[in-house]
Amino acid sequence: MAIIINHNNEMSLSIMDWKEQLQNHVNTLDRLRQYIDPTDEEVKAIETMKTKWGTTPHYAALMDRKDPACPIRRQVVPSLQEQVNRYGIQNYLIWKENRNTEEHRPDSIARQYHDKIAFTVTDICANYCRHCFRKELVVDRALELRFDVDEGLAWIRKSPEIRDVLITGGDPFLLSNDRIDYLIRKIREIPHVEMIRFGTRTVIALPQRMEDGLLKVLGGMHRVPIWINTQCNHPKELTPETAEAVYKLMGCGINVGNQAVLLKGINDDVDTFKQLHLKLLQFRIRPYYVFYCEPAPGIDHFRTPVEKGAELIRDAIRGHTTGLAQPMYVVATNVGKIPLMPDYYIKERNEHEYTLVNYKGQVTKLPNIPE
Ligand SMILES: *Cc1c(COP(=O)(O)O)cnc(C)c1O
Ligand code: SF4
Repeated sequence: MAIIINHNNEMSLSIMDWKEQLQNHVNTLDRLRQYIDPTDEEVKAIETMKTKWGTTPHYAALMDRKDPACPIRRQVVPSLQEQVNRYGIQNYLIWKENRNTEEHRPDSIARQYHDKIAFTVTDICANYCRHCFRKELVVDRALELRFDVDEGLAWIRKSPEIRDVLITGGDPFLLSNDRIDYLIRKIREIPHVEMIRFGTRTVIALPQRMEDGLLKVLGGMHRVPIWINTQCNHPKELTPETAEAVYKLMGCGINVGNQAVLLKGINDDVDTFKQLHLKLLQFRIRPYYVFYCEPAPGIDHFRTPVEKGAELIRDAIRGHTTGLAQPMYVVATNVGKIPLMPDYYIKERNEHEYTLVNYKGQVTKLPNIPE
């Protein structure tokens, strides 16, 4: 039985717990039709493309029944445009995650930095995002990797330079509480690890996941703190259930940040971009990154020009509103994340002074002090 949650009614409660949300995963045309009237094009994409798709009833209920351009719907429903691939790099993940380098590492460990790694523990998700840059692994299933948690743990144990372990996927919060408990306990036993991070979209797509059992596993005062980053791309994704989930996480000592993806037609206009970042703060989620939509295959239709994110920070955020609402805009590459911030601040410099300009175009001077 699928229960449709009405988000227009602030009083409505989500009746399904997280397991029921997953049991009722919206991944067939019949179930999808409970939420939207799919277009012929959407039906054709679902029927003809070999791709994993689907979402939770919670997230499905946010879709607009009639509008195929709905920003939630475009993140959920497969599109024939995913077959177009003009700019995507083939074997993207192998290149991006440095999987063909000399250093021997388990499949589960992606490394671009000296003291931190991304540890992939699963390839299942609550929502199969159409724009996912790990699509080859998570959505298209063309790339098969071994996610042996113990093998990954053993590698971390004998790599003393690793002080920050970012647990990712897929979505690590789709693992059972026992599995998550095991992972955290084993990592905390490693003396050189100073922090554990989880990247999970459940805060948005499956906020019911933040139930007592998981909070008990995550919470408490420990030597090794836990940080969470979620992914919210549009203000419509922020529901009362998400507000409650974040509050519960903070209540057990966990900070929640956001890593949005800049998506054409979804959040690449000044108004949506600003509303997204302001609403995140209202929900106690700190904007951390906005990612350029990576050149992975099959997601050309989501991609903006590279400069777009910096322009949006210039035109919507910096100076226009609360500084805490400002994310860093980054391009994630095979050599790590590269920040691209607005570049207009320094207008001129000579040996005596700098000429600086603010968000309104007002000019000011600063003496150039020699070293
Ligand atoms: C993103 C990423 C990290 C974490 O980077 P931060 O900038 O510290 O958030 C670590 N390792 C890999 C491989 C990554 O892609
Ligand atoms: S939740 Fe993350 S890994 Fe899963 S499909 Fe979405 S972007 Fe990809």
